[in-house]
Amino acid sequence: MDFRELAELCERLSSTTKRNIMVDAVAEFIRRLEVDEVEPAVSMMLGRAFPRWDQRNLDVSWATISEILKRLTKSYFPVFSKVFRDTGDIGEAVKATLESSRVHRQVVLFERPLTILEVRRILEAIAESTGPGSRERKARLVEGLLSRASPLEAKYMIKVMIGEMRTGFQEGLMELAVSKAFSIPLKVVRTASMLVGDIGEVAYLCKKHGREVISKIGFKIFRPVKPMLAQMAGDPEEALREHGGTTAFEHKLDGARIQIHKLGEEVRIFSRRLTDVTGSLPDVVDVVRGGVKAHEAILEGEVIAIGEDGHPLPFQHLMRRFRRVYDVERMVLEIPVKLYLFDILYVDGESLIERPYTARRARLKEVVRGIPLTEQIVTSDPEEARLFMERAVNMGHEGLMAKRLDSPYTPGVRGKYWLKIKETLEPLDLVIVAAEYGYGRRHGWLSDYYLAARDEETGELLVVGKTFKGLTDQEIIEMTRRLKKLAVREEGHRVIVQPQIVVEVAYNEIQRSPKYKCGMALRFARITRIRDDKGPEEADTIQKVRRIYERQFEKKARY
Ligand code: AMP
Repeated sequence: MDFRELAELCERLSSTTKRNIMVDAVAEFIRRLEVDEVEPAVSMMLGRAFPRWDQRNLDVSWATISEILKRLTKSYFPVFSKVFRDTGDIGEAVKATLESSRVHRQVVLFERPLTILEVRRILEAIAESTGPGSRERKARLVEGLLSRASPLEAKYMIKVMIGEMRTGFQEGLMELAVSKAFSIPLKVVRTASMLVGDIGEVAYLCKKHGREVISKIGFKIFRPVKPMLAQMAGDPEEALREHGGTTAFEHKLDGARIQIHKLGEEVRIFSRRLTDVTGSLPDVVDVVRGGVKAHEAILEGEVIAIGEDGHPLPFQHLMRRFRRVYDVERMVLEIPVKLYLFDILYVDGESLIERPYTARRARLKEVVRGIPLTEQIVTSDPEEARLFMERAVNMGHEGLMAKRLDSPYTPGVRGKYWLKIKETLEPLDLVIVAAEYGYGRRHGWLSDYYLAARDEETGELLVVGKTFKGLTDQEIIEMTRRLKKLAVREEGHRVIVQPQIVVEVAYNEIQRSPKYKCGMALRFARITRIRDDKGPEEADTIQKVRRIYERQFEKKARY
């Protein structure tokens, strides 16, 4: 099938918000695909060049794409910025730019239209070109692709490349469409998708083998499963209430979540985003080989970095371990990590995800020797829970996770079976000194704010963070109006404003950061209130921010 049909379908999806119309259109489209086209088409419709479990990525930067676009459209390139500014949509801006350049220069495309499979093959070639000179090779392939594409096709190719479709057609709707296309019950499709880890592949299997095979699919070792996620609870008491009076509390470690797959001596480790990080964690691989007494298993846990004093190191530090692909041995010594396990999804042919939390935890204890599990209590006593939380925080951990005793493991779902309870640091009152225009739905709104604290000594306002979180749409609209009045000058997308508006900001941690002049940055900053009762001179000082930063090390190891 031609890629044009896929692009036209996506365009139709963007023009409606009616879910059943979308699902019907996609189901009909999928039905018409050849077996080999099914997975690539489904992946691309979801904004993925490859299936989700596939570890390849295109690695094409926006700088490369815009250089190519400049070359292809020459004097028409400024159209891009204009349309991007108006719509906030890169794909739409690419389409408009190509349209104007082609209309004016009468470019005629003599080449055969691109098929879905050809586009996939070229994307594969882009991903597979690595090493010296790969940037140029990738650029040539992208240029070849774009110069053969119609403006509409280019719009969606770019969206696939940057991984952002904005058609409103998400994974859940795709599951519905696949179920409809092949007349297989939704529940069967969902379960298969969760186990296989990719709806595109499930669609392919449906087309190829039908319902019989799909309903018998099981876990695949080395194919990561989407992690179960947690909602937030204010305090341990709220979690107890939410879980019917009794729950299991575990320490919430501030590290990185990993999913471990083991088959005999072979171990592979996946990050929370399902990338294979085995290469950067050889020490964890050894621990798993030595400590998991099962031939086959899928386990979950958290790795944390440990400082010299035995306390956990800030998260930022651990990330250096994950990013490192060379000189791993030195990093293993420099940043030792420790694994804590907290769940087991599968063991020796048996899926455990339908079993209750308590049964999985018991099974985990049986299967593991010498690897610690996250510290846990089961209680219905709010006071005991509060003390447990206090202890966790004093040990340098983030807070607690509450896990409902009878809950199954629900991959990819952020529900109430797991609740996270974090200790928040003292909120700060900060001044908005600049703002940026948002994307997509928020285009035209100043929705991303630079937050600053005053230096007591120099009087200077120093940026300590940036956030687009916390305000409602209505508040953003109002804030945009106010900030525009305070505008001093524009720097591209950014508007520098007179420092007048004070907001209360919550955050989880203060990190050391070279990004800002003060050397610190708030992690997960979000606005909790607009402090119209405070003037900029009453905002918090950089000295206070530094004190809170320092205080973190009473519980955490210093780096
Ligand atoms: P958040 O990332 O804030 O949504 O919190 C959920 C994350 O907490 C998980 O993805 C894990 O990485 C992490 N975590 C830390 N300790 C635990 C635990 N005991 N059980 C489950 N997740 C944990």
